[in-house]
Amino acid sequence: MGRVSGKVALVTGAALGIGRATALLLAREGARVVVADMKEKEGQATVAEIESAGGEALFVSLNVTVEADWEKAMAATLSRFGRLDIAVNNAGILYSGSVETTSLADWRRVQSVNLDGVFLGTRYAVEAMKPHGGGSIINLSSIEGLIGDPTLAAYNASKGGVRLFTKSAALHCARSGYKIRVNSIHPGYIWTPMVQGFTAETPDQVAARQKLIDLHPLGHLGEPDDIAYGIVFLASDESKFMTGSELVIDGGYTA
Ligand code: NAD
Repeated sequence: MGRVSGKVALVTGAALGIGRATALLLAREGARVVVADMKEKEGQATVAEIESAGGEALFVSLNVTVEADWEKAMAATLSRFGRLDIAVNNAGILYSGSVETTSLADWRRVQSVNLDGVFLGTRYAVEAMKPHGGGSIINLSSIEGLIGDPTLAAYNASKGGVRLFTKSAALHCARSGYKIRVNSIHPGYIWTPMVQGFTAETPDQVAARQKLIDLHPLGHLGEPDDIAYGIVFLASDESKFMTGSELVIDGGYTA
């Protein structure tokens, strides 16, 4: 019996990185999984991997910033699986820029994916979960939602927003008696395509990676599964007394 057996989960950004690892682990723990992403080829590969291990999964094409995509994604989820128990609002983008170097267009692009996307995902998940006795929503913030970084003005703002939006939604759902829990996850730096994009190749990038590693007292970057295990914990009934909480998984970065 898996830790989320019989439950239906939707994971955004599940084509790559943390989202992909989360979709695979939720399936291994017994959930039927909706893999939601803009990258169809890689998303279908996540679905194929789940199916080849005997699980059930569905790919839906979703840009988290587009409300019409959310309507279609929830309709596809309910039509295939009949319910939604777990929603992981994981899709996000990183943008490096200080208060002086970030343009308004870049600022808005980051808020649109990281904040609007989480808002829409939470709102649609609440609507889908309410009629079926509740559920668990997990929103991806970051250590950058807890502490400031002079080079990440827009990203800091978006992830700090996710942190407090999560608490607002958690309180609303709890006070409304919906049995829907909403929690945030705060990873340190994790070895995914997002981080590989600026630390994997040139000597300068490898030096930048070492600087990042040095910020983690455990002495290495995290792996996608390190975060997926935390997400599955928050998705499962093992965390049934947790809502509005911040789960920090950061190798000691913010300790
Ligand atoms: P990643 O770039 O490796 O993968 C992100 C996935 O999200 C991709 O599959 C991409 O196609 C999808 N995506 C991006 N924009 C989308 C959109 N508008 N609609 C739908 N899908 C979209 O990223 P990751 O490292 O796996 O990060 C996942 C989440 O974790 C993000 O919210 C990120 O901010 C957060 N996070 C990551 C780290 C890290 O070090 N990797 C640390 C803290 C927080």
